[in-house]
Amino acid sequence: MGCNDKDKNSTNKITEIELQHGKLSPREFLKYFEKKVFKTIKKYKLIDRNDKICVAASGGKDSTAALYLIKKYFEKYSLPTENIFALVIDEGIKLHRNESLANLKKFCKKEEIKLKIVNVQDEFSTTLDQSAEKIRKLGKKPCTICGIWRRYIMNKQARLEKATKLITGHNLDDEAQVILMNQFKANVSLSAGLGPITGVEEHELFVRRVKPLYFCSNHEIELYTKIKGWELDYCDCIYSHEGYRSQVKGMLNEFEEKYPGTKHGIVKSFLDVLPLIKERQKEQCNSKIKICSCGEPANNEVCAACKLKEELLN
Ligand code: SF4
Repeated sequence: MGCNDKDKNSTNKITEIELQHGKLSPREFLKYFEKKVFKTIKKYKLIDRNDKICVAASGGKDSTAALYLIKKYFEKYSLPTENIFALVIDEGIKLHRNESLANLKKFCKKEEIKLKIVNVQDEFSTTLDQSAEKIRKLGKKPCTICGIWRRYIMNKQARLEKATKLITGHNLDDEAQVILMNQFKANVSLSAGLGPITGVEEHELFVRRVKPLYFCSNHEIELYTKIKGWELDYCDCIYSHEGYRSQVKGMLNEFEEKYPGTKHGIVKSFLDVLPLIKERQKEQCNSKIKICSCGEPANNEVCAACKLKEELLN
């Protein structure tokens, strides 16, 4: 799919921002946005004083904003910023990852944040580009596979680096999409792992994933990063249109356009019932977390990543 150069970095100067509740100058908007993120961190206790933070970065707008704001939060509350590092996974998507990786390297250098790069190729002996055709032949979507690889590597690498929290750039749009997808597919039990702090129960092999941008919309994050003037790639990944999510995203955007506040309404009402969903999941889930032969935690004897590796190699 991709996008043209015009879309990559809008150079139009933003002079006024119209939100649902009124108009703000760019300066006021930056304040409003940062306040919202810090409030989420505090309200949901996303960060403890002694946390070592791994930020799941990609060079995209969401994770770059999360990385920057976590550092800003640490500075504001005099926490040790050397306890923050960024982790990026190179899935081997030539037309997408190369540029965002270059931008991320520059950003981390400027902000003096340690960056660790892990290649899917090293872990799984293939890349997304190399496996895309085979993935489709198996009746799967590249995004599903990419998601399995990313979750596996992120958790493993964050744990190896002794991180106590894994920060992701998931935003309000992402969460509203997943809530609806799980509803549409009658997979409500999967929603038990959602929320600003993911997971149902703690486990020593899982690094807790937290989402400081939980209440920020895609549009707000885009505005924030554009006002900041960061060099970012705003284009969609070449595989993103193939997924089920892309259709739900289109539908939700259309609805939001007609009925502003729809996404927020979905997430807010979901948070009201989340404790019940988690409770029910705990009661029903009497099978303990298993350890796959690769050493990683799994729901079954073989973890999803190892199962996939076998399918792709055969
Ligand atoms: S859009 Fe899909 S394939 Fe591309 S990076 Fe995201 S999950 Fe991976």
